[in-house]
Amino acid sequence: MKTILTGIRPTGHLHLGHYFGAVGNWAKLQNEYETFIEIADVQALTDNFNDPDKVRKSVNNLTIDLLSIGIDPNKAHIFIQSLIPEIAELTVFYSNLVTISRLERNPTVKTEIKQKKELFGEQGESITYGFLGYPVSQAADITAFKGNLVPVGDDQLPLLEQCREIVRKFNSIYGETLLEPEAYLSKFPRIKGIDGNEKMGKSLGNAIYLADSDEEVKNKVMSMVTDPEKIKVDDKANPNICMVYYYHKLIGNENLHNICEECKKGQRGCVACKKELLEKLLEFLKPVHEKQEYYSKHPEEVEKILKDGTSIAREKAKETMKEVKKAMKIDYFK
Ligand code: ATP
Ligand code: MG
Repeated sequence: MKTILTGIRPTGHLHLGHYFGAVGNWAKLQNEYETFIEIADVQALTDNFNDPDKVRKSVNNLTIDLLSIGIDPNKAHIFIQSLIPEIAELTVFYSNLVTISRLERNPTVKTEIKQKKELFGEQGESITYGFLGYPVSQAADITAFKGNLVPVGDDQLPLLEQCREIVRKFNSIYGETLLEPEAYLSKFPRIKGIDGNEKMGKSLGNAIYLADSDEEVKNKVMSMVTDPEKIKVDDKANPNICMVYYYHKLIGNENLHNICEECKKGQRGCVACKKELLEKLLEFLKPVHEKQEYYSKHPEEVEKILKDGTSIAREKAKETMKEVKKAMKIDYFK
């Protein structure tokens, strides 16, 4: 059986971008693969080191969200990154195999640095050694579990390429030990934000969260960016630049063809269109909210799921570590 390793940073709740871009896939893939899902608290701390409360709280919230969208703890192992010290060890070993300029050239890291500057200004947090190095730690995450497949959104592709390079370099120096993983993309590998930004992101303030109340969802849908040329209700508009149409498509509205035609012909007002979308979204979110409520009331179940998942993950990482140390000739005192 092939192994899936994927992860999520505990920096907030799950949003629709996660669900349609990556996490929704995990719920399907868990039936076919041995699945490890990492709650990447160490990675979250690289740029949230000054907000430990947020990271701690998000570990629980995220786990609840994952269970609420159909991750089955009997099939998938949900585990906490910081409880697997082998990942930190591997990160140190791999850090010799990556140049600083290569990390600085990584397109995902570059975009994230740019976004941080836009959000906090040039005077904001400067980029730390830990943040620049997170792709190395991510390579450790994947290889510790011998992940073959990594189901992610397309913002992660450069990080996966970085991991593959590290694996090749490691194997060429120390002998065939590590597996080169492959990305697995969803049908919509990058979900846009409600503001029209190319990516819906926790750090970007443009997300609809699976934990949002009906009222919050309503406010967000009503504020979605539409065709700016459409002023009056019967103006013709271009659905392809409208976020409301975009989410109708994403949620799989069976009325999509009509929505598109009516919008183009000026037969559909934006408010009515938004109300229809809201209805669909709330219908989608209802069972998710019910499960979130259940798990929020049963924290002991959530804790047990994390403990069990972490213990299975640790065993697997220990096996890999033995092989790595042997290959690197640092397997002392047998
Ligand atoms: P942060 O801003 O803290 O990095 P994030 O919203 O980018 O948060 P991550 O935890 O970094 O979330 O990503 C978890 C997974 O979800 C990754 O596989 C990532 O590719 C995917 N993902 C996140 N946002 C999107 C999106 N807008 N479209 C598609 N996939 C996404
Ligand atoms: Mg991210």
